[in-house]
Amino acid sequence: MKSMGSDSGAKDTGGNSRTAGKVQEGISEKISTHARTEKESTKVVIIGGGACGMAAATKIRRQSDFNIIVLSCDSHTAYSHCGIPFVLGREIENFEKLIVKPPDFFRENKIDVRLNEKVISIDLTGQVILTGEGIYHFDKLVIATGSLPFILRKSQANIMPYGIFTLRTLADGMLFGKALETARIVCIVGGGTIGIECASALTRRGIKTILITRNKDLLSRQFDSDMSAIVRAQLKALGVEVITGETVLLPENFWKQKTILVKDRQFPADLVLLATGVKPETCLAEEAGITIGKAGGIVVNEMLQVKTGEKFLPNVYAGGECAEVTDLVTGEQRLSQLGTTARHMADVIGNNITGKHSTFGPLADPWVAIAGNLQFGGVGLTSGEAERQGIKVVTGFSRGRTRASYYPGRKDLYVKLLFKGNCLAGAQLAGGEGIKERIDALSLAIRKKTTVKDLLSLETCYAPPVSMLVDPLIPAVKSAVRNMREIKANEKSPDEKLD
Ligand SMILES: Cc1cc2nc3c(=O)[nH]c(=O)nc-3n(C[C@H](O)[C@H](O)[C@H](O)COP(=O)(O)OP(=O)(O)OC[C@H]3O[C@@H](n4cnc5c(N)ncnc54)[C@H](O)[C@@H]3O)c2cc1C
Repeated sequence: MKSMGSDSGAKDTGGNSRTAGKVQEGISEKISTHARTEKESTKVVIIGGGACGMAAATKIRRQSDFNIIVLSCDSHTAYSHCGIPFVLGREIENFEKLIVKPPDFFRENKIDVRLNEKVISIDLTGQVILTGEGIYHFDKLVIATGSLPFILRKSQANIMPYGIFTLRTLADGMLFGKALETARIVCIVGGGTIGIECASALTRRGIKTILITRNKDLLSRQFDSDMSAIVRAQLKALGVEVITGETVLLPENFWKQKTILVKDRQFPADLVLLATGVKPETCLAEEAGITIGKAGGIVVNEMLQVKTGEKFLPNVYAGGECAEVTDLVTGEQRLSQLGTTARHMADVIGNNITGKHSTFGPLADPWVAIAGNLQFGGVGLTSGEAERQGIKVVTGFSRGRTRASYYPGRKDLYVKLLFKGNCLAGAQLAGGEGIKERIDALSLAIRKKTTVKDLLSLETCYAPPVSMLVDPLIPAVKSAVRNMREIKANEKSPDEKLD
């Protein structure tokens, strides 16, 4: 299927079409163009039919009668990437269930979605987009190209053989899912949330799983060592063999040998999943002269407009994983690889395109993931990031329970809080239940620069089936207070200590 949307404005309008400048050269007359005519309303072109692109399209449709075209090189749209591990684990029946809006929805709403159509270049001066199929004029442009799997150079040479997979799109999920039907042993490379969720999913269906990361710990970017150890123990309990601090060597003929090498050990593996992270897809933007930042994403202002030279362009926006964000705690530019961020950015872009001024502020990036019956997640600064940024933090830790001591089914709950000065700057939680709600509350606390004193007087609610009388957050705050006092005491000179 080529196009999911209406055909409006897809044909060349001859004399009325704008010149596409150098981009148009050599394009055959047969190629359709999305050209401007006097009568037509504002033309919005969105590159990328993922979380940000599709949410921006629907937002714009709700707020305007603009002519909207979405160009996507994906073969599906409006689906939940986040659900893929749960289909692999057979908790969700099939991949089709992840499609949250059917093609008809976009057709009915006059959003012209063109799938399997890769944008080749952007001409900012001529305000045209070139794809393999045609040229599209735009009045407003949204770049929402997401990310590409990041594959380490060493293994890149071996990426082609059958049996090695990445997981970014629904089609990737379907392909991997099919291969899993006959797999007995799978090696997952990468210890981030996707690698962990997939490892848990595979063991759930009885597939022996080895998870390998070159980092010292699992979740090395999101969790401190002590918290990541809880996740590691959970994976072990699920039957996953976890190897950290080692790189994997995939033999050239993996498809035949069906073994992987870790240091001097050989492991049998029917399939390999590379879950080694992603990098922003910024090629198009970069070639068009759009500024790329230090973190590797497209630089945007608070209205999410892109920059060329010293100027932000009023009609060109970028959002989702391809754009950089500002960190709420450090003020540094970084990437945010979350569906929630993509969705939030889409709202801001949609508002700005339709004339409702909206801004996008710094982020603390709350996240949560699942391995078996363990939920784990966090928000804000980690100790590792604090060290990289030269920020001193004081931590507080507690281990509590999720229900009253006599109530059946109670589970462990681990809380780690990080304070920068007196203010809450980060939180990491793991446990059997009640993780998301606490992280969301702590996310607001970080945003509001809540102090340790405020948190000491935090009022929490209680009923035996859902909490302890003293919420485990409180002992974590008290533990941080004790650590702060101890640090202060140690900082005092010997004379002061005598006072
Ligand atoms: C397996 C998995 C699980 C996840 N789980 C979670 C989770 O639990 N919670 C969470 O918050 N986030 C999760 N995420 C992350 C979340 O899905 C992404 O952050 C989100 O999809 C990013 O949205 P985006 O629009 O920036 O990129 P995408 O959704 O990837 O969309 C990018 C789009 O751009 C298109 N594109 C790129 N280049 C071109 C081009 N040249 N021409 C045309 N089209 C192009 C692509 O085809 C695609 O349609 C998960 C991701 C994966 C892969």
